[in-house]
Amino acid sequence: MIALPGMMLRWMLKKVVFLTQFSDLGLAEPLLRSLVEEGYTDPTPIQAAVIPKVIEGRDVMGIAQTGTGKTAAFVLPVLSRIKEMELTPKRAGCTALILAPTRELAAQIADSIRIYGRFMKPAVAVVVGGVKHNPQIRQMAPGVDVLVATPGRLLDHMATGTIRLDGTSVIVLDEGDQMLDLGFMPAIRQVMNALPKKRQTMLFSATMPEPIRKLARDFLVDPAEVAVAAVSKPIDRIEQRVIHLPHSEKKDMLAKLMADPAIERSIVFTRTKRGADRVAEGLVKAGFGAAAIHGNKSQNQRERALRDFKQGRTTVLVATDIAARGIDIDDVSHVFNFELPNIPESYVHRIGRTARAGRGGAAISFCDGTERQYLKDIEKLTNLIIEAEGTPQPFEKPPAPGGNRGNRGGGQGRPQPKPATRNRKEESGKPRRPRRRKRPAASA
Ligand code: AMP
Repeated sequence: MIALPGMMLRWMLKKVVFLTQFSDLGLAEPLLRSLVEEGYTDPTPIQAAVIPKVIEGRDVMGIAQTGTGKTAAFVLPVLSRIKEMELTPKRAGCTALILAPTRELAAQIADSIRIYGRFMKPAVAVVVGGVKHNPQIRQMAPGVDVLVATPGRLLDHMATGTIRLDGTSVIVLDEGDQMLDLGFMPAIRQVMNALPKKRQTMLFSATMPEPIRKLARDFLVDPAEVAVAAVSKPIDRIEQRVIHLPHSEKKDMLAKLMADPAIERSIVFTRTKRGADRVAEGLVKAGFGAAAIHGNKSQNQRERALRDFKQGRTTVLVATDIAARGIDIDDVSHVFNFELPNIPESYVHRIGRTARAGRGGAAISFCDGTERQYLKDIEKLTNLIIEAEGTPQPFEKPPAPGGNRGNRGGGQGRPQPKPATRNRKEESGKPRRPRRRKRPAASA
């Protein structure tokens, strides 16, 4: 047997154990420095796969959901190229454009850009609906390195000429399937058509429905395709249980469970905006620091609620599905489903707010008689029987759309999908999708 010197052995071990390191990926030095400050030692699989392709200048089609490190997978190489190639924006333009489905996700991506870019200080703007146009116009006037936008408001600015995309060389479409669900596809196509032909395009989506495939066929050139963990993956690390009880007992049960000191930070999901307000009020009355976040809140209220939660001033965030989409907050120990979602995929998205970046978490769901079918649908999608407590309530038909508890599907004023009964599409294993709006007034 050949004896290997210790140093060589350590080098080989490192190559086997940590197949890739950030320093192997070709990122500019200021970015590597900020990763060290962030405490990121190794790239996640999507980062290891996507970053070198983007640095090479390739188009990328990424199948990945939030929680995989997807944001850094596109933000890092985009910033790296801006730095290394010394790309500068035109007036009222941007070098890189990132399109996201919701205001919250857009703000979060911008935060990530500022964090990862702290040693290169890129000019970043966020252009979303629900706030005044003028500050956005002023911010965009000199041109920015990266613009993060929701499609509706971006189109408004393009129409008035206050944002131009003729000098944009990189476009990232994030959460493609969410944008599709929210009815943004025509807006996205309009934006894509306004971009220069010579550009780099990245498209990220958790699932690959046909309209997303078509978008990729129409606008990506020879893309590198990268897929990481399917939508149900993080579930493995989450301890799940369901408590059967009548609707009238949910409020007290929530307050009782919240008293558990193991709950450091939690998100409570409701199906409706009014429900979110009521649950938050109930928790505050019971002595918990809680705030609600949903589409009826002003941008300032939403931002304050998120900030307070991130900084630990409140420990419970009560949210509807759309408002919480893509929210990236570390250390959420528990997710509560005060009401089960009627769209089973939403359950996976909801509980994915915990168990981020390799950690564990717990998800506790309440199920009354009207939600028994939703529970069945969720168990079918996730291929799991969720551990149950309490007596299953008599099966009741879900309330009609628009009813008090029946504003189904996130309560964001969107057209509501049909009840979650088993239909032929489900039997064929294809996920049901919410019906789509034609043209969104503003992002969720
Ligand atoms: P994302 O999928 O972009 O929503 O990221 C999920 C979470 O993982 C965020 O909290 C990131 O800050 C964190 N994260 C991203 N990349 C890494 C990494 N390489 N190492 C550790 N944590 C990471």
